[in-house]
Amino acid sequence: MMSSRVAIYPGSFDPLTLGHLDIIERSLHVVDELIVAVSNNDKKNHMFDADIRVSLIKDTVDSFDDNLKKKITVEKFDHLLVDYAKSKNSNIIIRGLRAVSDFEYEFLMTGMNRTIDKDIETIFLMSSEKYHFISSRFIKEIHRLGGDISKSVPKPVLDFLKKIWNVQNLLYEGP
Ligand code: ADP
Repeated sequence: MMSSRVAIYPGSFDPLTLGHLDIIERSLHVVDELIVAVSNNDKKNHMFDADIRVSLIKDTVDSFDDNLKKKITVEKFDHLLVDYAKSKNSNIIIRGLRAVSDFEYEFLMTGMNRTIDKDIETIFLMSSEKYHFISSRFIKEIHRLGGDISKSVPKPVLDFLKKIWNVQNLLYEGP
């Protein structure tokens, strides 16, 4: 029997976007099991708590068909990525590429991971071109300024952002 291919898709997902979701769906075409690993690294300035980032991803993939849903696990991790992958019996890392600008960072990261563990392979998937301009960073910025991000994030993320935006506005207008 062929052993099942387990892959890790690591990232900040701060918050999950339709670009990330596209990569998740594409990964499921090539692996048997996907662990979406939400980095819980205090050194990075995340806007949302790791538990919130995890639950927004869970809520989103919950609308997938059962046969896809059963292939996905979402959890946070704070180890070195290659150690984390090993602990999950995985040697496949999935990363997404948008533009050339992603290349250098991804290239360096892949190289570093390879020096730590030569058996780890990173697979790059290209998102659909309609998602090439989506990044968590811009989502946060546009949303903060009251712009429309409904075409860039999944519904659970949109609902969540709207909710906190309303709360923030109430606080600003408070006495
Ligand atoms: P990190 O902080 O690890 O870069 P991100 O959440 O920003 O975490 O991204 C996780 C992965 O998803 C990265 O490989 C990134 O290039 C990829 N990614 C993010 N947005 C998109 C997008 N719109 N299209 C394709 N890949 C994307």
